[in-house]
Amino acid sequence: MSFHYVNTRLLINNEWQDAADGRTLAVTNPATGQEIGRVAHASVTDLDKALAATQKGFEIWRATSVVERQRVMREAAGLLRARADEIARLMTLEQGKPLAEARGEIMSCAAMTEWFADEGRRVHGRIVPGSNTASHQMVLKQPIGPVAAFTPWNFPINQIARKIGPALATGCSFLCKAPEETPASPAAFLQCFVDAGLPPGVVGLVYGDPAEISDYVIAHPVIRFVTFTGSTAVGKHLSAKAGAHMKKVVMELGGHAPVIVAEDADVEVAVKAIAAAKYRNAGQVCIAPTRFLVHESLAKDFQTAYVAFSEGLKVGDGLNVDTKVGPLVNERRLQAMETIMADIEAKGGEVVTGGHRIGDVGNFFAPTLVVNPSMDSMLFNEEPFGPIAGLRTFRQLDEAIVEANRLNYGLSAYAFTRSFKNVQTLAERVETGMLWVNQPAAPTGDLPFGGVKDSGLGSEGGHEALEEHLISKVVAVTGI
Ligand code: NAD
Repeated sequence: MSFHYVNTRLLINNEWQDAADGRTLAVTNPATGQEIGRVAHASVTDLDKALAATQKGFEIWRATSVVERQRVMREAAGLLRARADEIARLMTLEQGKPLAEARGEIMSCAAMTEWFADEGRRVHGRIVPGSNTASHQMVLKQPIGPVAAFTPWNFPINQIARKIGPALATGCSFLCKAPEETPASPAAFLQCFVDAGLPPGVVGLVYGDPAEISDYVIAHPVIRFVTFTGSTAVGKHLSAKAGAHMKKVVMELGGHAPVIVAEDADVEVAVKAIAAAKYRNAGQVCIAPTRFLVHESLAKDFQTAYVAFSEGLKVGDGLNVDTKVGPLVNERRLQAMETIMADIEAKGGEVVTGGHRIGDVGNFFAPTLVVNPSMDSMLFNEEPFGPIAGLRTFRQLDEAIVEANRLNYGLSAYAFTRSFKNVQTLAERVETGMLWVNQPAAPTGDLPFGGVKDSGLGSEGGHEALEEHLISKVVAVTGI
């Protein structure tokens, strides 16, 4: 069966529209370097239309019963599931990840959307006793208002699902600037909400120049809440802008996840969990493990097993069924990997597997492990966002904890140990939003998702994600 990639337009008032001035951008397949389609490039005229629609959508949606909100969201999730094969192909063509990963992302987003839909039913206020019996004090939970969301290309649907779920479940409308690199799969996701009966204006989708759009939209009086996923530098910039307009933010930013393999760990379990997590989405994952801190007695075994796993992976076009690692999303990411490796060459470290690009068509980079990278290397200090990891050893658990906390990131951390005492120590002391012990990360919708320090602010999962979108209004009544 032939399959065509589709061009993407702007979604305003439940209608797909070209940009007012007709501008478009190219979309490229990262496995081939070929242009596969176009995406509309919004101007201020389009943004004004989208913002007006978002305001109207908010008035409608906040007045819609929670039961109806739940129904629409659940129906959208069902449509997403039914369309998973078709949307997975769009995602692989524009993003590069293997089809199985694309499909997995879509199915998990359907489940997440259902979870948020149901959790919307559990938004309760409370009654607070007054100083006398004639006093009635209520705390009402109300939607904060129209949300502006800025989402990246690494998980084109998941990054939106984490934001749209809590927004819609609490009665907020939602205007998203999704990634220009991967526009078609987000559009197909939002189409599911339109088809499920979401009223016009409750969701909007735009593309264009990220800085131009965020400048305009964040400052615009319609928007009450700003949520961004991407690099720490951009997150700080957008937070400052939102702060200047006294708007609340949720920021899901970079990470540099440490992996602590304690003396009593099961090396086989550790390598299986960590290698799979490292190479998922070719390492372009904010919670990807990057600093492997392995007890010196296990380092050799860990290294041997990790290298064997890495060298057994088929790197290639995500459309091929046997591909396990796809291309990096763009040429810029490939250059970033080459810069990290040049820095290793200059500062020291043993490249025990990989370390180079593969072929000269598409953005493929070999799964890579560097043993003993220098402490001041780029690899051990900056988020690689690609299939490169470094390994260093430790003697005492305490040293590993100090190293885990050394960087200003704190999104995800991993540990392998069979001792509950170690788990308690790590849980107490590792500065992180999430600590996964003896397992890969499993960030489902029902768990809080977010980082500490430079990794972000607020949560994109669990009931906490809904709380972010709610204001607590006091109504105190007496004399009735
Ligand atoms: P980048 O910082 O240029 O862009 C990251 C994302 O932010 C993109 O989606 C981009 O469109 C958006 N963006 C950039 N400037 C913006 C602005 N002024 N207003 C609104 N949005 C803006 O980096 P990149 O080369 O595309 O990606 C690489 C880096 O981004 C990685 O090193 C990683 O730290 C970060 N990143 C993180 C995540 C995540 O899941 N936390 C996802 C994608 C990228």
